[in-house]
Amino acid sequence: MPAPQIEQLIHLMSKIPGFGPRSARRAVLYLMNKKESVLNPLIVSLQAVADNVKKCPICGNMDTIEPCSICGDSKRDVTQICVVQDIADLWALERAGLFKGQYHVLGGVLSAIDGVGPKELSITELVARVQSGVVQEVILALPATVDGQTTAYYVAERLEKYPIKITTLSRGVPVGGELDYLDDGTLQMAFKARRDF
Ligand SMILES: [Zn+2]
Repeated sequence: MPAPQIEQLIHLMSKIPGFGPRSARRAVLYLMNKKESVLNPLIVSLQAVADNVKKCPICGNMDTIEPCSICGDSKRDVTQICVVQDIADLWALERAGLFKGQYHVLGGVLSAIDGVGPKELSITELVARVQSGVVQEVILALPATVDGQTTAYYVAERLEKYPIKITTLSRGVPVGGELDYLDDGTLQMAFKARRDF
């Protein structure tokens, strides 16, 4: 049996998405073997993230500055808000590099099975941003899953009474597709060919 400190680290690592107990054990062994080149720099890096990263009060992105570098960038178009399920999707769209507006991170999608209702998502905050008046287009860039599309309909309904255009990504996004897994070219096409919701 490994020492309690090692067990504890394996236990914590196994909670990370993509890790299970087995891959956590392998990762911990690797880290212990690479103390100087990986483990120590990793500790410094984790501490820096823990100390400096905060959630943007406007869009829900994570950054070291507040508001985040996207919300604070005066060159970006404040009349367009792209709604995404999580920060991974925001990063995917930024990597594709074609959108120059603002984002809104919902923090998930509605899901009866997982007990995620509208209150668990930042929908009220989105409505408030639209209500403030400068927004002209809301782009619903949500996954092409049943939950993703249910969420898109719900959000569209909440925004119905405002004089804005509501669009969604083109059908280039495969059914069941999570944005984060699309290659940049497909994502760019889907974004450029977006249609009225
Ligand atoms: Zn922001």
